[in-house]
Amino acid sequence: MTKKIKEGLIVECGSMFSGKSDAIRRKGKRYEYAGLRTIFIKPQLDNRYSETYLMTHDGNKVLATSVCEHLSIIEMDEVKSADVVLIDEIQFFSSNIISDIQSLIQMGKRVYVAGLDLDFKGNPFYVTQQLMSIADEVNKHKAVCMGCGEDAYISHKKIPNDKIVELGHSDLYEALCRHCYDSKKEK
Ligand SMILES: [Zn+2]
Repeated sequence: MTKKIKEGLIVECGSMFSGKSDAIRRKGKRYEYAGLRTIFIKPQLDNRYSETYLMTHDGNKVLATSVCEHLSIIEMDEVKSADVVLIDEIQFFSSNIISDIQSLIQMGKRVYVAGLDLDFKGNPFYVTQQLMSIADEVNKHKAVCMGCGEDAYISHKKIPNDKIVELGHSDLYEALCRHCYDSKKEK
């Protein structure tokens, strides 16, 4: 009997350190245990931890395929043969990824994406925003505010500059709630 999976799109979004990458890592592992074919994909520019692993901030990892953020992933044989496609750091992909994901759903695949919903200025990332609208399910993850311990809302850049795409870890970013973000911005 061939295993059949329900097609669709699930978006796991939130600020940095909110556990969204870990959410798709756990989902993918579950499907692997169930005998389904999975592929983890991440953009090539996200090489903060490792070239070949999808690493989460708490150190868990799975094998991932790094692809150019402009590549059409539906052309990849590993994607064609997968039942479940899991993509991390979705906000870094070019907007072609949106139609690619819609094609994958039409092909009967289940797609999980993890990504930032807002940049450090509080503006939505276009790709994440579009995918949230067409998703079957959206989960917003919350990090802990480094200022007060409440739920965080945004990834605040500790060393200010205008670069929207700048890779970094806790050396560069901290998760903050709206209140703590506003009071830091005013300084
Ligand atoms: Zn706070």
